Amino acid sequence: MSTSATGAKSNKAGQSSQAADGLSVTQRRFLRLGLHTEQDFIVHLPLRYEDETQVQAIGSLQVGQTGQVEGEVVYSEVQFRPRRQLVAMIEDGTGRLALRWLNFYPSQQKQVERGKRIRVRGELRGGFAGLEMVHPRVTAAGGDLPDSLTPVYPTTDGLSQPALRRAIDQALARADLSDTLPEPIRKRYGLLPFAEAIRTLHHPPPDVSYHDLVEREHPAWRRIKFDELLAQQLSLAIARAARMTQRSRPYSANDTALVSALQDRLPFELTQAQQRVIREIRDDLARSHPMHRLLQGDVGSGKTVVAAMAAAQVIGNGGQVAMMAPTEILAEQHFRKLSAWLDPLGVRIAWLTGSLGTKARRESMAAIESGEAQLIVGTQALIQDKVVFANLGLVILDEQHRFGVGQRLELSRKGEAAGGALIPHQLNMSATPIPRTLAMTFFADLDVSVIDELPPGRSPIITKLASDERRDEILALVAQEVRSGRQAYWVCPLVEESEALQLQTAVDTHQQLSEALPDLRIRLIHGKLKPAEKAQIMEEFHAGQVDLLVATTVIEVGVDVPNASLMIIEHAERFGLAQLHQLRGRVGRGGIQSICLLMYQGPLSQVARQRLRAMYETNDGFEIARRDLEQRGPGEFLGLRQSGTALLRFADLDTDAELAAQAQELARDWLRHDPDKAQAHMNRWMRGKQDYLRS
Ligand code: ADP
Ligand code: MG
Repeated sequence: MSTSATGAKSNKAGQSSQAADGLSVTQRRFLRLGLHTEQDFIVHLPLRYEDETQVQAIGSLQVGQTGQVEGEVVYSEVQFRPRRQLVAMIEDGTGRLALRWLNFYPSQQKQVERGKRIRVRGELRGGFAGLEMVHPRVTAAGGDLPDSLTPVYPTTDGLSQPALRRAIDQALARADLSDTLPEPIRKRYGLLPFAEAIRTLHHPPPDVSYHDLVEREHPAWRRIKFDELLAQQLSLAIARAARMTQRSRPYSANDTALVSALQDRLPFELTQAQQRVIREIRDDLARSHPMHRLLQGDVGSGKTVVAAMAAAQVIGNGGQVAMMAPTEILAEQHFRKLSAWLDPLGVRIAWLTGSLGTKARRESMAAIESGEAQLIVGTQALIQDKVVFANLGLVILDEQHRFGVGQRLELSRKGEAAGGALIPHQLNMSATPIPRTLAMTFFADLDVSVIDELPPGRSPIITKLASDERRDEILALVAQEVRSGRQAYWVCPLVEESEALQLQTAVDTHQQLSEALPDLRIRLIHGKLKPAEKAQIMEEFHAGQVDLLVATTVIEVGVDVPNASLMIIEHAERFGLAQLHQLRGRVGRGGIQSICLLMYQGPLSQVARQRLRAMYETNDGFEIARRDLEQRGPGEFLGLRQSGTALLRFADLDTDAELAAQAQELARDWLRHDPDKAQAHMNRWMRGKQDYLRS
């Protein structure tokens, strides 16, 4: 904890060193905390509280707790062994407490002279010679005690608690604390007035329950959480309303010659769930404002064919479709599959990735620009500035969670560039299911379709855990699987620290496996290979000319080879839960019984053990996602952490789901009947954050 000495110092520095932007050091620190306006300061709420209202008896103190006691100094010396330090001892009649400073000023030494009565506050430790506090805060005994809990705020380097407190108190004195929720609404949802809630949290009254305050269960917190959720719901609803004013070209659901031709060509019957989501998408595409739909379906549930049906509807009505995948391997696979389905029906398909040669790229881009290409499959290369679409009508993002927020927006803008005012429809596909509460709060602007059924005839994947000491047995299992005509994947360990090391590990693993299983046709695939080489290897694996594919996580998403029935993941404890589930989803795609074998090396950390247990216990992507969310928290789960914007600071999606539903209800009502109230509320809570939520 910072002392008031550093607080004073930073204030002085703040006044003297003005930089070119005219901001003092302190001001810049405030900005770093996201504190720009008075409203920002008043909703900068305590992380926790300290109880300085009481003086405790030394005899009642417990190790690990923060305590505040008063006593008489009975010993005070600078000791030199084992190192220079100031040591004092106080007594209050119930016990003795040692105090220790490793760095100290002469003034501090004076403060703890023998015979003085002092008040000290600090964390209790079990020291060498009994109870002690290291670097406690010291004041003279008998001073006033605050009558309320002391707030402790989130802060940043160099900004002391007292400085922050002062700034917040100044803002509280000046700022507009008027209520954005009229009384009838507060009554309806049982909420405190805003000013009262804010004051309670910054300056808790003496009788407040410490527990409720710290656990954020106090009605004051409830009000703040509601406000925060309301602001979020409003901004999502506003984004949605904005979308409704945008125009898109409608693609008729009636003129479905290409769609029915495609359906007739499919080698399987669509599942009920696939038919349902296809209908939902079909109706969206026929509207004249942009579709913004998330298609969720567990790995292997058959999302690709749904995308193909949507593409057929748009292409059949004269529009262009772009499908973007996060990796070349996946894009390549889509290209192959979509070509097999649509090429015979006369659809012209182009291919665009970063690794395309200059000539081929120029040809692709020309075909995209002229409209010659009706379906374009590719990677991030599709969003380069130079790519111009003739009449982009639909954008499909596969494994959308792999793309950044910006990339998702970028491809949508391609329609604006091409046709002026028309925005392409957008279909996002993801196998990472978003739990209901999250979907409601963060993706309220997306319509969601769910494929909740796997194609028939799949037997569930059997997941096994095995210590890597059983490598021989595992090799025997691989050999046996291959002998009965199946294929297998062997995923090499993740080496996060170094890409070079990762590659080396893959090469070594391939070498070892080739020696151990000399009869098998084994190939290695990794990210450093040329795209053409990767494509060649995948081609051979698809064609059944490779028995065992040794791979890095390049095969993580989307790869679809139904004859592969065995997945071995080495050092599974190093992978994340979502990643393991994705990898496991590479098998179990045909009718054959498949096995996923998670090899681990002990001893396992607590978290790794939980992850592996989750994989062992369930095959259900939604359940996996729920547990993943539990372990990692929503920001990281959604891949939004890097955006630097806290998602929800106060509300918790698990415990506050009901509050979120109420906030959603009010947000809808306001936007319809009371936009001014909505605006006033947004002004308090959402400055500068709207853009981020819109994606
Ligand atoms: P994902 O949802 O993981 O992207 P895919 O679209 O790759 O799944 O489909 C997985 C496999 O299931 C593919 O081989 C696909 O051809 C096949 N498939 C899709 N729909 C059906 C269906 N209705 N019946 C049988 N097989 C299907
Ligand atoms: Mg897929």
